Amino acid sequence: CHASTDTNDTTLRKDYLPVHGVSEVIVGVLGGGQLGRMLCQAASEMAIKVMVLDPLVNCPASSIAYDHMVGSFDDSATVQEFAKRCAVLTVEIEHVDVATMEKLEQQGVDCQPKASTIRIIQDKYLQKVHFSRHGIPLPDFMQIDDLEGAKRAGDLFGYPLMLKSRRLAYDGRGNAVAKNDEELTSAVNALGGFARGLYVEKWTPFVKELAVIVGRGRDNSISCYPVVETIHKENICHVVKAPAHVPWKIRELAIDIAHKAVSSLEGAGVFAVELFLTKDGQVLLNEVAPRPHNSGHHTIESCYTSQFEQHLRAVLGLPLGDPSMKTPAAIMYNLLGEDEGEPGFHLAHQLIGRALNIQGTAVHWYDKPEMRKQRKMGHITIVGSSVGIVEAQLKSMLKEEGSETQ
Ligand code: ATP
Ligand code: MG
Ligand code: MG
Repeated sequence: CHASTDTNDTTLRKDYLPVHGVSEVIVGVLGGGQLGRMLCQAASEMAIKVMVLDPLVNCPASSIAYDHMVGSFDDSATVQEFAKRCAVLTVEIEHVDVATMEKLEQQGVDCQPKASTIRIIQDKYLQKVHFSRHGIPLPDFMQIDDLEGAKRAGDLFGYPLMLKSRRLAYDGRGNAVAKNDEELTSAVNALGGFARGLYVEKWTPFVKELAVIVGRGRDNSISCYPVVETIHKENICHVVKAPAHVPWKIRELAIDIAHKAVSSLEGAGVFAVELFLTKDGQVLLNEVAPRPHNSGHHTIESCYTSQFEQHLRAVLGLPLGDPSMKTPAAIMYNLLGEDEGEPGFHLAHQLIGRALNIQGTAVHWYDKPEMRKQRKMGHITIVGSSVGIVEAQLKSMLKEEGSETQ
């Protein structure tokens, strides 16, 4: 059990209490990508000041943030300098300098979620160890240090075998599958060798992937968003359907696991819990993100309180908002980078043009300076009166794409 030992944790420091607005404090966000940008968008509705730290001068959050400090969220001196300017420090990416966060916490800087949480989550192997210690069901896993170890894991777990980098993984860039023991070497090499820190997971032949966004306030109150289904293409989130079309018992199980997983971590904010649903009705945890997440983008249009507003409410010690859906169904489609440069932009804009003509559709474009293959450039959310209807609308939007390129 991880009860918070910090008794002053439910309120911000006195000199930061709101004077005449929703909040007077500056929320500092490590990272200024699309998640930082959407945090800024939610913040502007309540006149909350969000400052971002990102090395890219024209990062997605830059143009709409209250302030943008140009610098690395993985550099100690920079993070310390940034923290001086903010009342509460949070993250939109887990690959930050956690040692500095820990040091800052010791000096009294308010980090939400806590550095301990970031430390556990940014190392996927430690994360697995942590959750299995807390009795959360997950695929079997094992650290590997050399080829012998990888072979032993293959004998134990069978093939295909999922090899993963412990650190710096995102959008599946850190995963490699070995179909048999002969492929182990190439899978290890694809991940940059053992020196980078690798582990393996037993292959989970899931029937669906599910996700739950969980908000936790500074008073440890917990509030879960409806379970969604995520569909990945080449390890990258592609489509999210809300709510997930699964029996209520599965939804209950997913919420229960998500609740338990987040309760085992420290600090306020929203967390995303990625899950596998197996053929025999088991729900296993894949991983947790300590921040807003791609599986929660639909909440901007489909829920009373978006995941971004919820995150701000949580870290500021405001009451958590209502996570329930205000529309019966939503579907989110990621606009992933196609070709590099201009032709890629052209394709994305064709799709956006079509989306703008569909009722119930919202277009989000992150304004990233460069397009790269498989990079998340934006997303489209369609809301409607049933999952069937929004699915059909998405299908028609994508079908036209094929006919135009013929
Ligand atoms: P994210 O962008 O979500 O942070 P990531 O790089 O951390 O992604 P994972 O979430 O570990 O990667 O894996 C990406 C996808 O690969 C999963 O959503 C799932 O589709 C597939 N996958 C991961 N682990 C397994 C497994 N053990 N068995 C089968 N498929 C898996
Ligand atoms: Mg991940
Ligand atoms: Mg993932």
